[in-house]
Amino acid sequence: MELLEQRIIADGQVRPGDVLKVDSFLNHQLDVDFISRLGEEFYRLYQDCGVNKILTLESNGISIACLTAQHFHCPVLFAKKKVKSIVTSDKLWKSTVHSFTHNTDHDVVVSKKYLNEQDRVLIIDDCLANGSAMSALLDVCHQAGAHVVGVGVAIEKAYQDGGKSIRRRGIRVEALARIASMNVEDGVKFC
Ligand code: 5GP
Repeated sequence: MELLEQRIIADGQVRPGDVLKVDSFLNHQLDVDFISRLGEEFYRLYQDCGVNKILTLESNGISIACLTAQHFHCPVLFAKKKVKSIVTSDKLWKSTVHSFTHNTDHDVVVSKKYLNEQDRVLIIDDCLANGSAMSALLDVCHQAGAHVVGVGVAIEKAYQDGGKSIRRRGIRVEALARIASMNVEDGVKFC
């Protein structure tokens, strides 16, 4: 999506450690009108898929998920990052996300009340890299018996394995901007 690529060029910052900072418009300060245009694009791509729920991960995915849901007129469900507890609840679907940047694992949970086999889910997130966050959301849907119609991410770091491995599982992945390479010296190159 040309609009997003131009915005990344204008306002994104490549930081050491393979991080693209987009917090001036996408995941800290939020350009709501702009994000709504991304939501519109996800709607164009998935409008015929019978989506009745959008699933994301707190906190970075929530704004994009909400502004996408406005077009689908469906609820947004966000997986919560759970502080480890010795009391495991049988009322929660639970999975684990591995953070490659921090080299830590954390649990994410979704209430069983809000996700079940009746659901046709579109999973939305801001960024897809190694795919751990997305795999946890797919796992939660699998446990619930919900049907995943596809995945929508604003940015895919296509030189990492996440998108490839999810597509290999036969799951539709739509990325609005696909990054072929990036580094501090040369900036971002798109696919
Ligand atoms: P993955 O689990 O696919 O490796 O990483 C995806 C998650 O990490 C996303 O939820 C996203 O918030 C964050 N993330 C990974 N790489 C980047 C990056 O370069 N920039 C930003 N802003 N977030 C990233």
